[in-house]
Amino acid sequence: MRKHIFNAGPCVLADSVREDTARAVIELGNCGQSIMEVSHRSKDFEPILAETIADFKELLNIPEDYSILFLGGGASLQFCMVPYNFLRTKAAYLNTGTWATKAIKEAQLWGEEKVVVVGSSKDKNFSYIPKGYEIPTDADYFHITTNNTIKGTEIREDYDSPVPLIADMSSDIMSRPVDVKKYAMIYGGAQKNLGPAGATFVIIKNSMLEKVSDRPIPTMLKYSTHVDEGTMFNTPPVLPIYVIGQTLKWVKSLGGVKEMEKRAIEKANMIYNYIDDSDMFVGTVAKEDRSLMNLCFVMKDKYKDLEPEFLKCATAHNICGIKGHRSVGGFRASCYNALDIESVKFLVDLMKDFEVKNK
Ligand SMILES: *Cc1c(COP(=O)(O)O)cnc(C)c1O
Repeated sequence: MRKHIFNAGPCVLADSVREDTARAVIELGNCGQSIMEVSHRSKDFEPILAETIADFKELLNIPEDYSILFLGGGASLQFCMVPYNFLRTKAAYLNTGTWATKAIKEAQLWGEEKVVVVGSSKDKNFSYIPKGYEIPTDADYFHITTNNTIKGTEIREDYDSPVPLIADMSSDIMSRPVDVKKYAMIYGGAQKNLGPAGATFVIIKNSMLEKVSDRPIPTMLKYSTHVDEGTMFNTPPVLPIYVIGQTLKWVKSLGGVKEMEKRAIEKANMIYNYIDDSDMFVGTVAKEDRSLMNLCFVMKDKYKDLEPEFLKCATAHNICGIKGHRSVGGFRASCYNALDIESVKFLVDLMKDFEVKNK
């Protein structure tokens, strides 16, 4: 029986995407080969890559002067590639959580004095988004993490930045319309909202390539290598790209990112409205900064001992992935695009039932 998949990543995928991929793994169309066997430089795969890029651009309304790349190494390698390519004298970072902290650490390898942390919510275990800070106008770029997968906060507006804005959108890409022209670069691991692990998407404004540092950069870590070769410098992650392509078609068939946003709000409201009324459960972050993708909550002190009991109950009811990250505790319900609203309703009903029985 299929579970209610609240995993933070890799995440739940749409039924039609899994079914179609299963067929392509056996045989891609009628080409006599599996998607895992075809050459990445063949007429079997090249149109798939081209269509995936075209759909990516269409769904996010990405201007012409941007390139889309699918790379290896995860979002974590981008933490290193961004400063390797763009950090010359000074970079600004907003520290909003575990992933942002890791991005900052990689930049600091180029000299701690070159990294300006303009704002941080570390003082309260990253339970809010810092505001009212200043971005140095002489910074090479400003790096943000739009959705904080572990801590459960999200930046849902597209910031105006006086310097090139670079965003890690690993866990909220395709969950809302984005004003891409406000960003110099957007990147993320595919496994949170787009497909399986194994591909990292990069949306990069072509003019950023002129701003690359003149330090020697290993070929594979240079953005221009991949832009110049249309993300085909080396063998791209063929199977993950296929699944991303299918997911984008699925998003399109439902009405695009506007519809994804509507659904995300509906799903998140179900959980947040309930915990706000509950005597047992309580959210862990500032209400105005709550994530629509990763919803974190715990049990109030009075009921704290019951957390393992509820987790057991959820597991027994075919719910998986709701155990909170160890740095937050309690629970985290990740409600990515492909998570059905019925699964959210099921979870909330179970929480209600548990509260009534255990109060
Ligand atoms: C998961 C995640 C990462 C790390 O992604 P990998 O692809 O595993 O390297 C980075 N940033 C955010 C916001 C994430 O959610």
